[in-house]
Amino acid sequence: MLRVTNAVLPGRTAPVTVVAEDGRITAIQEGDVAGAPGDRVIDAEGRTVLPGLVNAHAHIDKTLYGGPWVSAPQVETVAERVAHERRHRDAHGLPSREYASALVEAMVAAGTTHLRTHTDVDPGVGLRGIEAVAEVARRYRGVIDIEQVAFPQGGLVTNPGTLSLLRDAVGAGASVIGGLDPAGFDDAPNAHLEAVFDLAASTGTGIDIHLHDGGSLGAWEMGLIARMTREYDLGGRVAVSHAFGIAHPPTRVRLLEQFAEAGVALVNAAVYDAPVPPLRACAEHGVLLAGGTDGINDLWGPFGDGDMLRRAMLIAYRNSSRCDDELLLALDTVTTNAARVLGVDDHGLRVGGPADLVVVGARSAAEAVAKVPARDLVLRAGTVVARDGVFVGAEGGNALLR
Ligand SMILES: [Zn+2]
Repeated sequence: MLRVTNAVLPGRTAPVTVVAEDGRITAIQEGDVAGAPGDRVIDAEGRTVLPGLVNAHAHIDKTLYGGPWVSAPQVETVAERVAHERRHRDAHGLPSREYASALVEAMVAAGTTHLRTHTDVDPGVGLRGIEAVAEVARRYRGVIDIEQVAFPQGGLVTNPGTLSLLRDAVGAGASVIGGLDPAGFDDAPNAHLEAVFDLAASTGTGIDIHLHDGGSLGAWEMGLIARMTREYDLGGRVAVSHAFGIAHPPTRVRLLEQFAEAGVALVNAAVYDAPVPPLRACAEHGVLLAGGTDGINDLWGPFGDGDMLRRAMLIAYRNSSRCDDELLLALDTVTTNAARVLGVDDHGLRVGGPADLVVVGARSAAEAVAKVPARDLVLRAGTVVARDGVFVGAEGGNALLR
């Protein structure tokens, strides 16, 4: 049996003891709980214990993490960044199992237990990215759950051959169909979305569409996505990533109402100076807002470290959040909400839930969002997988506790 004592959980003030057995939480009780000889005991010493963190949007197939430093180009448009990546990815050995693995280990060390990653699929790279990420997912099974989106980064309607590759990707490890700026990049909004929704409906997969298009164009596309989600009866399985058009004031409230009714979620990574959806308005309208990191240290840009607590802080900061309840809404974007977007029911600090525990150096969950403290200990299913910010893996964690 595992007992984590003197733990402060989100939404509580009095320290509790979390008891776990066979990887599951069997009790959460105020004060200390008498154990038995042979119990493993972790004294949290009044620190905060968070559930496993969930990254709802990354691109581990693109990353150069752990490799040589490569300067990204100072260009302005998505199309220019895609073209730059196409020209240089082979020379840098992308997609790379080694770089992706190094990044996954950093994510785990920062407390991440679940990840959705968008993997490029196009006639140039074929399914090499999907296969590489699938192998990385197998390598870290039991430590982190990795879900792949088959992502037409190079265009869908305008890039012949991509649609059939997306279908093949579903058989090779992808469980979600992606899309990219149906109007702004692919210049064929209806054909693009029909292809994505048809493929998802016929393969039983979810949908997660990159939408950088802003203003009235992005808002119009989001309205279209909400309508198609209802028509295809895919409510609860569709997400719009980035969703910069949600910041368009004339249509924001109407879009939130449409998304709530249709069951469309928002995913955002608080990138650069791009718009961030409103935390409180999303919560009040019942729209799931999940956090991601987007690309990390790749040919698109130099930033990122895979830390979802830092991303929650950025989402709160960009929302001008000051009070605790808004900081906790930001925490939800990288825990509860993100788990729901990924369709992960087995998540959360509750009796019967998984013993996925992240011990952080903060006195409350709100302080953890504001200060982004070190991750002292990360447990997956009751096993230490990272300690003091260093990945140890399931085997290493067991050895440390013996
Ligand atoms: Zn992305």
